[in-house]
This record gives sequence, structure tokens and C-alpha cells, in this order.
Amino acid sequence: MVTKRSERPDERHPAFDQNLLALFAPRSVAVVGASRDPSKLGYLVLRNVRTSGFPGPIYPVNPGARRIQGLPAYPSVVSIPSSVDLAIIVVPQPAVLSVVRDCAAKRVRAAIIITSGFRETGPLGAKAEEEIVSVARSAGMRVLGPNCLGIIDTVTPLNASFAARMPSPNGIAFMSQSGALGAAILDWAAARDLGFSKFVSLGNEADVTESDLLRVWEYDGSVRVVSAYLEGISDGGRFRRVASEATRRRPVVILKAGRTAAGSRAVVSHTGALAGSDAAYSAAFRQAGVIRVQSLEELFDSSLAFSSQPLPSGRELTIVTNAGGPSIVATDAAEMHGLKLTPLTHRTTDELRRQLPPAASVTNPIDVLGDAGPDLYRAAIDLVLADPRGDALLVILTPQLKTDAEDTARVVVEAHRQTNRPIIACFMGSAGVRSAIATLSAGGIPNYPFPERAVAALGAMADYADLKKRPTERPRRFTVDQTRVRNVITKARAAGRPNLDSFEAAQVVAAYGIPIPRAALARSLDQAVQAAEEIGFPVVLKVASPDIVHKSEVGGVRVGIQSPDEVRRAYDEICAAVAVRAPSARIDGIGVWAMARAGTETIVGLSVDPTFGHVLLFGLGGIFVEVIKDVSFRIVPITSADAAEMIREIRAFPVLQGARGRPPSDLSAISDVLERVSQLAEDFPEIRELDINPLVAYPPPRGTLAVDVRLSLSL
Ligand code: ADP
Ligand code: MG
Repeated sequence: MVTKRSERPDERHPAFDQNLLALFAPRSVAVVGASRDPSKLGYLVLRNVRTSGFPGPIYPVNPGARRIQGLPAYPSVVSIPSSVDLAIIVVPQPAVLSVVRDCAAKRVRAAIIITSGFRETGPLGAKAEEEIVSVARSAGMRVLGPNCLGIIDTVTPLNASFAARMPSPNGIAFMSQSGALGAAILDWAAARDLGFSKFVSLGNEADVTESDLLRVWEYDGSVRVVSAYLEGISDGGRFRRVASEATRRRPVVILKAGRTAAGSRAVVSHTGALAGSDAAYSAAFRQAGVIRVQSLEELFDSSLAFSSQPLPSGRELTIVTNAGGPSIVATDAAEMHGLKLTPLTHRTTDELRRQLPPAASVTNPIDVLGDAGPDLYRAAIDLVLADPRGDALLVILTPQLKTDAEDTARVVVEAHRQTNRPIIACFMGSAGVRSAIATLSAGGIPNYPFPERAVAALGAMADYADLKKRPTERPRRFTVDQTRVRNVITKARAAGRPNLDSFEAAQVVAAYGIPIPRAALARSLDQAVQAAEEIGFPVVLKVASPDIVHKSEVGGVRVGIQSPDEVRRAYDEICAAVAVRAPSARIDGIGVWAMARAGTETIVGLSVDPTFGHVLLFGLGGIFVEVIKDVSFRIVPITSADAAEMIREIRAFPVLQGARGRPPSDLSAISDVLERVSQLAEDFPEIRELDINPLVAYPPPRGTLAVDVRLSLSL
């Protein structure tokens, strides 16, 4: 494996463990539990290690045999006369712990435990797994598994797994949290031209996790793309740190399966109801620069493109085709993935018109027509690649009467050698294009059976190219009044109250520099009138109760109050309504608030995700947020760029820009609130949920006003 100096693992990084490398490129391998019996895993694993071309010494370990598969065998790991870098453990479950102890004594650097019967079986198995990890950790030995298929490295080469086949080498490094799925993928890949640089079945992740592999592969010259099937991430914070760095050097494409809804605990805010863990994963991936795909098909379609083609420098796509239908499908797909069809220069169009038949379409998509031979394809491809516009090329071919798929494939491969733009192909059909597809593949051109899939793969590449360009930015820090927030929280905690009252909650956001309306709590009608006069009409009256979550739902809110008389009427109405609709609620009094001028109602919220911690939400506010679900999420802390993206991501963004004659909203003020709330969450991890709904936004430069704040704590 050729690695440039700059691509060597960064030894200064505390999280980077050299012993991890022994999993992939060990100098020697022991197979513990090696067997002569072809029906045993211990047989398959040793056979795979032997036949994979592994260049170093191989030591079968089995107390009951002198020789196994032609190699001298040893009764235990400690009896091996030379050093062992990697031990592959396939002994029965009850024997694993003592083997791991032997490995630790022998100073083995890494172990792959294929044996199952651990955490996946219940508490007893989990305990056995913990013991293994603690032995390994105290010896500095890294452990992959248990309960996994193993590792295949086509570069070393080493097949340290019981998978029947060794895939062909290619730039894809693939990891899977499902062993069975991994095995199926290997089998499927063998039938296509999908090769792997590394293949890892993660098993129970007792020690080595997806983040460890990301770190290693980030610096591995043989890895062009990291591809992963994950069901969950153990340490969300570490994953985010590692992935953010890794994606600056390599594309990382992940299929995250298991879309679970929000946890079952009682949710008291809009944000809590909206923020499922799936949204948190999407946000975390996006912030870390990870490409998230929705299916296995997309995972490998995009991995194939990443591993064989250069990144596009922009989002402009040119299509050359011999049929109209597929190019229309491709055009629609391009729009869906945010790709634009390149507007070709006049020079190119003129030249195309000169060289192609009169009926051909010389604007993008370029249709060379059904009877086009390889020469017409060549003419069109050469011209569009010479055009200064255009970031990627898709060549579509349908087998028709005079089509020469094979020679056309050669034309495409030739073009690929002469350009630094990505080229992908969609030669449609089966028998008629089979050998042409083999030619494409040998020439490094990925082929997709349908135009939508080809375009989706290009879309993923363009997305990654964009993510890679994102500037490294730190979250802003604002000068705030932490002490005031600390005091409010301490008081509520001392009283055993998880939910702050509306005045306390408003105080908290105000202490972080978020504007709130003037307000006072009235405990009697007279106090309410007096407060209203001090604040100035118009005012809003709202019931103040720790037990009422949605005040307007119980008739607890009266807006637009213009006079002392109206205060009296509203006060009585609220008391009467609440007595009927929330009879058991404790009532602190009636809040008198300055009436905010009309603006655009937005929502800003916080909730806690079990994997990634605080999740920030933004959307159009009001009582229908949960129904409309037009919201965006990011994991805390956010940067100014994240805030700007959150605002632009919601479908209703045009409303904030001032659709249909409405005034535009002060976007930088909204961004400011998002960043301040992010800082609040970082400073106070005990905040469990926060809703600012509505945060009323005004035209610039008039900012925003947090009109209703709800905040709950974990006690
Ligand atoms: P809840 O969400 O508990 O029902 P809110 O305090 O959000 O109660 O009040 C409901 C609605 O009343 C808000 O969405 C907003 O439209 C309006 N409103 C509340 N307080 C004010 C205020 N101070 N100024 C203007 N409008 C307000
Ligand atoms: Mg509200």
C-alpha cells in the first residue's frame, strides 16, 4: 500500500490508536480455534486467511492438533514462538475470555472475536462481553466484535472472516453493523463489478466502533470512499468530531436504518413532539459532512461513483443520449437532486449542429438520435467536454437497431481518460449491453441500469463537493448573564419543579440577549389593571400555571386588550374558562404582557436526543407546527452558517423572505436567536426542553420578540 507522508496516521491525535491498524495490516496472524473439520467456522476462517494471499506468518491455535491445513499448530497463543499482531478468535463462547487473557499476556495488538453468544443474548452475555473488554483495555489490545463476520482487506491482502469470497479490490471501504447483511452484500458485489478496499463486520462493537474505523480510513490511501450500514451510533459526540474531520478528506456515505420515533417519555413541548431521533441523525450527519442515503441501492450506487470518478466542481450536468424518454426521466431526477442542466455555449451548440444530423437535439440533453453509432457519440461527448460550462457528464444509451454499445462504451472510457470531470453511464437493457457495461466498468466508468439512479449518484457527489467546500467555522459566543439563568434554575430545582413558569422561562431567554415583551404577574384583578396601565395598552393576559402547557387551548390567553375595562373582562373570562377546562391546575396568577406588534410567527426550540444531546429546532410557529411539521434541526452547538441553513431549509422560507407582498423578516436577528439558544443549551445541559413559540419576527432591522417561552429541566 502506497501512502504519502501526509496520509500516514496522525500519531499525535489522542484518539488514534496504532494497535487499531493491526486489524487491517498485521505482520502476523493467529487463528485461535482453527479446525480441520470443514463444517466448522474455525476451518473456514483459517482457510480464508491462508488463501487470501496474506504475506505474513499464520499460526493456527488448537490444543488438539499438531498440524492444521498443512500448518504447524500451537496449543495456545502464548506457546507461539514469535510475536502475534492479530488474533482471530473462533473458539466456543465459554472459552473466549481465557483466550483473550492469553492474547493480552502475549501482547497481541488486536483481536477479532467472531464467536457469538454475548450482549446479543442478554444480561449474562453482556457481562461476559464487559469482562473481555476490560482485559483487552488493560493490555491496550483492540477488539473487533464479538459476534461478527470479521474483516477483509484486499490491499494487505487478508481475509480474516468466514465470508466465502474475497471481493475484488476497489476504493470502497465498507462497514456494517449487520453481519448477515454484510455477507449478502459480498455475495451480491461479486456478481457485479463492485470491489472493496476494506470490508468490516462490526458485530457488537464491544470495543472498536464505527468512529474508530472512520479515523483509520480517513488516513488510508487505499480508501476513496467510506460506506456504512449503521443501525445506531454508540457515542454521538465522538462520532460527530471524528466524522467532521474525516469528511474533509474522504466522502462518507451512510445508510442509517431503524427510523425510530421520539422516545416514549412525556413530551411537553412542540419541539419534543417533533424531534425524533431520525431527525437528529440527519442533522448530525449533515453538520459532520456525511452523505445520508435512504436505501442499500443508493449506498452502493453512490459509493461506486465516489470510488471511480473525480468530484464535480459544481452542480451543472450535461446529458448525451440516443433516446428522448430516458433523458426526460434524467432531467426530472436532476431537478429533484438540485442539479441543473448545463446551458451550453453558442460555440458548442453551433458545432453540434454542424456535426450531428439535422433532427438531433443540440441543446442539453443532447440527443444524437436512435440510429447513432459510436462516432456521433464521440463527436457530441468531445464537444461538451470541451465546453467550459458543465461539471459532470451522463451518457445514456438504449440498445436500438444500429446501436453499437460495445464501441460506444470504448468512446466513453476514452473520454474519461481525457477529462477531469466525472462521467457516468446509463446503458439500459440487459443482454444487449452486457459486454459494453463490462467495458465501461473495466475503464472505471460506473454504469447504472436506470437514469434516476445515475443522477442520484451524481447528486450525492455534488452534495459532497458542496459540503467539502464549507468553511470551518466555530460557534459564536455571546456575552450573556449566566448567573441569572443559574439562579432561576437553582430555585426551580430546589422546589422540585421540572417546568419553569412562563415568567421564569422568559427571564432565561432574556438573560441570553433574546428580546421579550414587558410583563408582570398579577394575583388580583386590581393588580392586573395596574400592571396593564404601567406596561401600556394594548396588553395580553395569560394564565400563569405550572400545570397548563398550552394556555390558549384552555381559554387562558386574551390578546388585544385596550382598556382597564377590557382587562377586567378578560381577567374574569380567563379565570372562568380555566376553572372549567383545567380544574385541577395550580394557578400562580394572571400574566400581563405587552402586546407584540404583528409579525411573522416562528418557533425556536430545544430537545435532548439520547445519542447526540441537545437538538435545536426552527420552523414557522403557531399552534399548527406539529401538524405541518415544516421544521429544520441541527445538533448543538451551531455555527452562523448552520443557523442560516436552518432558516433557509424550511419549505415556508419564502414567507420569511416576504412572499405575496408581505414584508420580509429580519433573518439575521432570527439567526442570532438560534445561535444564542444554542449557547444556552451548551451552558446548561440540564435544560430538557425549550419552546419559544412564537418568536415573532419583524422586518429588518426591527429584530424579533420571544412572546411565549416554555422551558423544562431534567431534575
Ligand atoms: P400557548 O402557546 O400556551 O397557547 P401563547 O403565549 O403562545 O400561549 O399565546 C397564544 C398565541 O397568542 C400566540 O401564538 C400569539 O399569537 C398570541 N400572543 C400571545 N402573547 C402575545 C403577545 N404578548 N403579543 C402578541 N400576541 C401574543
Ligand atoms: Mg405558544
